[in-house]
Amino acid sequence: MFTMDRRCLILGSAAVVAASALSRGYAQSPTGPFKLDPLPYPTSKNEPYIDAQTMEIHHDRHHAAYVNNLNGVMAQQPDLAKRPLLELLTDLNSVPEAVRTTVRNNGGGHANHTMFWQIMGGAGGEPKGDVKAAIDRDFGGFDKLQDQFNTAGTRVFGSGWVFVTVARDGKLALVSKPNQDTPLMDGQRTLMGNDVWEHAYYLKYQNRRPDYLKAWWNVVNWDKVSERYSAAKAGTLTI
Ligand code: MN
Repeated sequence: MFTMDRRCLILGSAAVVAASALSRGYAQSPTGPFKLDPLPYPTSKNEPYIDAQTMEIHHDRHHAAYVNNLNGVMAQQPDLAKRPLLELLTDLNSVPEAVRTTVRNNGGGHANHTMFWQIMGGAGGEPKGDVKAAIDRDFGGFDKLQDQFNTAGTRVFGSGWVFVTVARDGKLALVSKPNQDTPLMDGQRTLMGNDVWEHAYYLKYQNRRPDYLKAWWNVVNWDKVSERYSAAKAGTLTI
């Protein structure tokens, strides 16, 4: 069988892996059934704002653990393994109660981090095109979005995330979530989001989460955010 991995190997590009993951919709493989896609850039790409060691531990250990835990459930529940991650997260009540919390935490973690790696590795700056227009319309400007986003991220008590959600008509909204919960669980789609678990910033920022939130904008990849925005409006954005 001519697998995705083989095509990527032949083309020899990590960027192709990332693009394929986006078009495929979720990081799911026929054999895993879930798999950890490689980071689409070197761990040093987000320096100096996010250090390479944090990126390596975050992706290779934390995200990997979510994928492994999720696959542990799938080994016991083969019927679940046939369903896309988005469907499991959107309809958690259909997941057997014995494994529901594990799927919620680890499936949410897998979806959130898959999105997170995609929309970083950039050079920050200003949003562009349709995304800029939507931010201006729905938040009153990029500076106002940043203020509201950073405030929401600071206010998450303990571990969680802050997201910008995108509706099918392109409307944006700010949502924060505890733990590894995701707006996907409410039937929404995430345009972008930031991880405010201490594991995302503690080595470099220690308890200074507001400084991390402010610095994070310097690594946003607005081209990827624009791709997700277009996909959301086309109805093809999954996780
Ligand atoms: Mn994380």
